[in-house]
Amino acid sequence: MDDKQKKKVRFSVSYFGFMLLLAWLFQMLIFEPMVLRIREVPYSEFLRQLEAGEVAQVTLGESRLIYTCCSDGERQPPPVYNVVRVEDPTLIDRLVAAGVEFSAEEPASGMGTQLLGWLIPLLPLAIIWYALFHRMQQGGMNVMSIGKSKAREIAGEMTGVKFKDVGGLEEVEVELREIIEFLKDPERFTRIGAKLPKGVLLVGPPGTGKTLLARATAGEAGVPFFSISGSDFVEMFVGVGAARVRDLFEQAKAKAPCIVFIDEIDAIGQSRASAISVGTNDEREQTLNQLLAEMDGFEANNGVVIMAATNRPEVLDKALLRPGRFDRQIQVVLPTEAGRLQILKIHTAKVPLAPDVSLDRLAQVTAGFSGADLANIVNEAALLAVRQGREQVTMEDFDLAIERVVAGLQRRMALKPELKRRVAYHEGGHALVAQLLPSTDPVHKVSIIPTAKGALGYTMQMPEEDTYLLSKRELQEQLAVMLGGRAAEWLVFGERSTGAANDLERASDIARRMVTEFGMSETLGPVRYTTDAGMGYLGYAATMRQDVSPETARLIDTETRRIVEEAEALAEQTLREREEVLHRIAEVLITKESITGDQIRQIVEQGATA
Ligand code: ADP
Ligand code: MG
Ligand code: ZN
Repeated sequence: MDDKQKKKVRFSVSYFGFMLLLAWLFQMLIFEPMVLRIREVPYSEFLRQLEAGEVAQVTLGESRLIYTCCSDGERQPPPVYNVVRVEDPTLIDRLVAAGVEFSAEEPASGMGTQLLGWLIPLLPLAIIWYALFHRMQQGGMNVMSIGKSKAREIAGEMTGVKFKDVGGLEEVEVELREIIEFLKDPERFTRIGAKLPKGVLLVGPPGTGKTLLARATAGEAGVPFFSISGSDFVEMFVGVGAARVRDLFEQAKAKAPCIVFIDEIDAIGQSRASAISVGTNDEREQTLNQLLAEMDGFEANNGVVIMAATNRPEVLDKALLRPGRFDRQIQVVLPTEAGRLQILKIHTAKVPLAPDVSLDRLAQVTAGFSGADLANIVNEAALLAVRQGREQVTMEDFDLAIERVVAGLQRRMALKPELKRRVAYHEGGHALVAQLLPSTDPVHKVSIIPTAKGALGYTMQMPEEDTYLLSKRELQEQLAVMLGGRAAEWLVFGERSTGAANDLERASDIARRMVTEFGMSETLGPVRYTTDAGMGYLGYAATMRQDVSPETARLIDTETRRIVEEAEALAEQTLREREEVLHRIAEVLITKESITGDQIRQIVEQGATA
């Protein structure tokens, strides 16, 4: 017996125990009181009630009579009485005369009642149990009401979304054109014997429009769109997910040509080896197996195109990516500046904009933002305008909205003057270093308004273009900007604070990568010392190579440290040269709590002439 079987047996045993408990509870709480509610009364009392016309229904037993009275209210069920039968030949006549409904069934009593009390609740439970057990053994291949009823809600949808609603993904759209042509007229393809990929996997960071793109593909082709999300499958009962997959494909096949879209496929398609084993393990695996079986089971070109989306392709089970399954991957990347402009245009199409709004500039300052972020910004800006009773959305609304999205919602929290001074110099230090060093991005805005995410302040830089490549010099200057806050604190207060912990973490990380990945250390040379531990979208993940000698490891540490120290020295020197400007910036920050990049540039220039 392997582990899995053992688990199933254990599962069914505990299930059985659970049912017994339920049955017992039923017996105790519902059935017993019901039996007890039957009141024992003398025969004379029965006759009195019969005469008075209070009796509603009588059941004649061999030795007993059970009868109910007309209930005197809606609230309670009619009381039930139990009478020992007396030899009374006139009983039937009396009953007829009183117009009472009567029958001569043998009512359950004694042991019989007890037994019924146990059997009634056990019966449906036993049926459920049997069904569950059965389906587990079959690997979830049989039809069960739980999966079925949910699955009925899955209906094809005409999305009506078009490619014009998707911005900045032209290249991806071109790749999808072929599929749209196929969906519009599958026979054209089948006649020639052309085969299309069965499954298309959209891969990309969250919010880049994968779901939107899938809907637009269906919309462009004018075919129904069946969608489920991997996270829907996180359900309690084993086999439900598999049943839903089967239902989904059944209905899709009936509606072909159409698109089946599985969103967040990583939730079910996680590699079986890497999956964290929580209780849902079996469930996920079964769902995945069912999905694979469905994909293998139908003919290519039967008019159903399967699309899926994930932002974690690295965790997907290899079996999903095999030929005949999701054999075509399409990368959906973060939008470029032109793409961002398009997306902003799409989302502001119905928003009245003030004349000062420049979407070009917005697109420029939002490098690294996803389509969803941009949609969010437009919405936030519109909300701000509405809140202030304005008819048009201004550039200021957009600037505020961007800040909110970048730094979390602003929270008005008064800083103690001493702390505020410190934060002002810290952020001022970042900003001034960024402004003074030649190859860094210009400062967009500095704020010392605490954010909801816990930062005491922030400095926003505005990239002039999307960066794809950084020189060593540029990296060093970026490091200096990161350490500028700490350097300013040191310069002004002569002591360090915890405020720079995050800066140090980022700086150390970059410095280490300069040494181990980019070959930027003369001492260690152009050798890569790390291996990918799965390069995720959600973050950089690399580990030190196993075969790095202890001496080299020590050297890496020394070199990393040297790079960070040099960057800090550069920051300190930069600030020292223009200390008067640092004080001016800090002053503005302390009184106004924020300062724009233009204001900083002005102060820097004034300082030079003064
Ligand atoms: P994903 O599935 O990649 O996480 P979504 O498709 O769910 O992203 O995007 C969420 C929302 O963000 C969309 O409904 C849309 O409003 C907006 N959005 C994202 N990307 C784009 C884009 N390229 N063009 C237009 N809107 C976009
Ligand atoms: Mg999505
Ligand atoms: Zn900082």
